[in-house]
Amino acid sequence: MNIDTRLQQHVEYCLKNSPFYRERLSGLHPADVSRATLAELPFTGKNDLGAQNDAFFAAAPERVVDIVFSSGTTGYPVKIVYTERDLQRLTENERRSLEGCGMSAKDTVLLTCTMDRCFIAGLAYFSGVRALGAAAVRNGLGSLESHAEMLRRTGATAIIGVPTFLRKLAGFLIGQGIDPKALPVTRLICIGEPLRDATMNPLKVANDLEALWGANVYSTYASSETITTFCECTARQGGHLLEDLAVVEIIDDQGRVLPDGEIGEVIVTPLQIEGTPLIRFRTGDLSFLMTELCACGRAAPRLGPILGRKQQMMKISGTTLYPQAVFNALDEIGGVSEYYIEVEQRDELSDTLRIVLSMQDEEPARAGFAESLQARLRVKPELIFKSEGEVRANVFTPGSRKPVRFFDRRG
Ligand SMILES: [Zn+2]
Repeated sequence: MNIDTRLQQHVEYCLKNSPFYRERLSGLHPADVSRATLAELPFTGKNDLGAQNDAFFAAAPERVVDIVFSSGTTGYPVKIVYTERDLQRLTENERRSLEGCGMSAKDTVLLTCTMDRCFIAGLAYFSGVRALGAAAVRNGLGSLESHAEMLRRTGATAIIGVPTFLRKLAGFLIGQGIDPKALPVTRLICIGEPLRDATMNPLKVANDLEALWGANVYSTYASSETITTFCECTARQGGHLLEDLAVVEIIDDQGRVLPDGEIGEVIVTPLQIEGTPLIRFRTGDLSFLMTELCACGRAAPRLGPILGRKQQMMKISGTTLYPQAVFNALDEIGGVSEYYIEVEQRDELSDTLRIVLSMQDEEPARAGFAESLQARLRVKPELIFKSEGEVRANVFTPGSRKPVRFFDRRG
């Protein structure tokens, strides 16, 4: 089935079953929709999903088998409902993703993300691992001690988790006298934080992970709303799009579709969805598409790293900056043990950037630090030095694996 037919079926399903799209797209004929004319359809925003949440549900209640809440970045969590077929589709998406980075039934995979709390990620990875025939070790939000024990007991060959957490786990193992490189772990499937920059070169965290674990790192990107995963293949140069499962566009600030390679907001139209179907969903994430033939031999487009969130864009004295760029700079300069950043609105044209951080060594590390940072960011942030404990108390909230390092205090 070609992409135009799949899109037409998807739009037809939305018009028939989704109250939101029946109204939003009233008068549209599915037969007129094609990949070439997709850009003529309106976008769907997170604000639409939030404001008219129930109007998006397109499956009868008796067909719903899982209910998820998307934490989003602000406000009230959005409800997403999945049917059995949606979960099977997601399972197949994950299975093909894991297979694409070289995994097989022979692998044993330690999962360090939760199956609970109405998140989809943990269930998605578990389902994919299981469909691959590999063995899942569902240790979720277990402590560092318990992950170390699971690695020892199961001989895990791969770990799925947040990059900065996997770096911390390696540090913990070393502290216990265990060299992570000596373990059978050969792959780290990284979620929630990018591994590469806009030129596809590895960030410091990616290099650190490979050196610490003696394993390859693979980036994967997904969201609860789009129910679609992009995972890097063995070439590790962007996450492959599975073209039968989704259409991806990149748009500029005016909503115009950008050519391949240009950075803009990621728009996803997931196909074959029943519970909460979406058309041209604005993810709010910034990245770019690569369409050259991949070194792995596949021609399917690849999505680059997530370079930032659109709504997190800061304007500092005329310079546009994203939190991730600040994180990358802090990681690369070195000497920083923990940090978070705060942004406040100074006036209509400019924001104030404040970095709250702790250093590994006190005085020597601070010398030249502000200058190095300013040179990398091209703006001068306010620096507040605190103890590591004080900084960590703000960064890590109980029960979450993903550190929160960006606090938006603008309006
Ligand atoms: Zn590839």
